[in-house]
Amino acid sequence: MSDLNEFRQDLVSGDWVLFAAGRSKRTNATEKAVVAEEHQDARPCPFDDPRATGQEIISEYKKENGELWVTVIKNKYPAVASQVCMPIETNGPFSWTAANGFHEVVVTNDHQRIFPDFTLEETTIVLKSYRERYLDIAKNECGEYIQIFNNFGKNAGASIVHPHSQILSTPILPPVVARSINGSAEFYRKNKKKVHDTILEWEMKQEKRIIFENEFFIAFCPFTSKRPYEVRIFPKLSNARFETIDNQSMEGCAEALNFVLGKLKKVFDGRFNFNFFIHTSPVRESPDLPCSEFYHWHIEIIPHYSILAGFDFSTGIVVNVIDPDQAAEELRKI
Ligand SMILES: [Zn+2]
Repeated sequence: MSDLNEFRQDLVSGDWVLFAAGRSKRTNATEKAVVAEEHQDARPCPFDDPRATGQEIISEYKKENGELWVTVIKNKYPAVASQVCMPIETNGPFSWTAANGFHEVVVTNDHQRIFPDFTLEETTIVLKSYRERYLDIAKNECGEYIQIFNNFGKNAGASIVHPHSQILSTPILPPVVARSINGSAEFYRKNKKKVHDTILEWEMKQEKRIIFENEFFIAFCPFTSKRPYEVRIFPKLSNARFETIDNQSMEGCAEALNFVLGKLKKVFDGRFNFNFFIHTSPVRESPDLPCSEFYHWHIEIIPHYSILAGFDFSTGIVVNVIDPDQAAEELRKI
């Protein structure tokens, strides 16, 4: 029997769940394996030389000096697998669809150094590789959304120590993104103003939660931070689509990302586990949800500080034990 690999929609909440049973075959895929991972720094590392370890290479990016810096490869244990477009079907009262899509890994060519250690050039190249892969994957007609994310550290879900990011496309709009898009649309309908412009104006007026600012980007601990030391990075110019940013603002984004992650690394001092991800518009603009009118792409950075528990899961009310005003002050000062 082949591994279960499909999206199923919850009948009550409407949330989609991705079943990717093949991924349980990865090393350190489950919590049981976390202890084993302590020793995983031992070589050979599958990402030190992706060509030599038989990875399927999609593209490579070099630095100005000719040194190879980024290799994009196909994920060996994809959560979604490229195939023909499939409709949403029913199984009893439930909706489901095949786990169609692309799952790629963006590997940086250094086993030790992680994002906050990268030079401006190095981070800019990573962001450019994200943009280029996004544009290429977006050509596929069945994809609804393309999620770019980075996990670092075992508590943040990274199963391979070597620093890498992932790009995963889905045939459905992910629930968190759908909520955020629908909420932005609703706010726009009511207020004739983009919700993220309202948030940015408030943060800029209050100033105290802002950590970094350059010509193009601004980074702050949101007033409604769900997680301790959560940081969001926004382009100052309202833009619904990450993939449309030009090279100059890409460099501004890299500067903001390096700065914020560098500060977080210092605050977390050696126990820095984090996820960051890009939230942008769905692949295609639809007449029902014209995201360019009301959405604003951004990066969210979530360091792992405390674990979610019964109250958080049962109510959806996440308990944050750190005042974002204090988090921002600490990040600015360190
Ligand atoms: Zn490595």
